Amino acid sequence: MAVERTLSIIKPDATERNITGKVIAKLEEAGLRVVAQKRVRWSREQAEKFYEVHKERPFYGELVDFMTSGPVVVQVLEGEDAIAKNREVMGATNPEEAAAGTIRKELAENIERNSVHGSDSAENAAIEIALNFSDDEIVG
Ligand code: ADP
Ligand code: MG
Repeated sequence: MAVERTLSIIKPDATERNITGKVIAKLEEAGLRVVAQKRVRWSREQAEKFYEVHKERPFYGELVDFMTSGPVVVQVLEGEDAIAKNREVMGATNPEEAAAGTIRKELAENIERNSVHGSDSAENAAIEIALNFSDDEIVG
């Protein structure tokens, strides 16, 4: 294992329900450390670019609508094996299939409004972090 960084997003369904603290507590309890964080409202262009890999999927337009429907909290998480660890504590994409104790099982509303994003590989983590943060915003 190595110390890694990953991009985490608390999605608009969670900011709307005022539960960002609950999400962050779960991440911190899993041993992840927030080393950069900001609450922002994404433009359509930002959301489209971030989810470009899903452009051909049927839910792309609705996903962009959702991700621009309210503020998001973007954060860089750091820790041992952070990419896989974050995915583990998030749980499966569909909260109905997520394991007990995961963020999505406990807090998410449905497969779209599923409260959190997490990078799925080291390559995508680097891309997604660079899209959201400058080096001097990652403060440890
Ligand atoms: P994950 O966020 O678990 O990596 P994906 O990368 O497959 O999942 O999908 C990105 C996001 O798109 C999901 O987190 C969810 O918000 C939305 N999404 C995925 N599948 C669907 C679906 N079948 N219907 C509606 N929205 C979806
Ligand atoms: Mg994904």
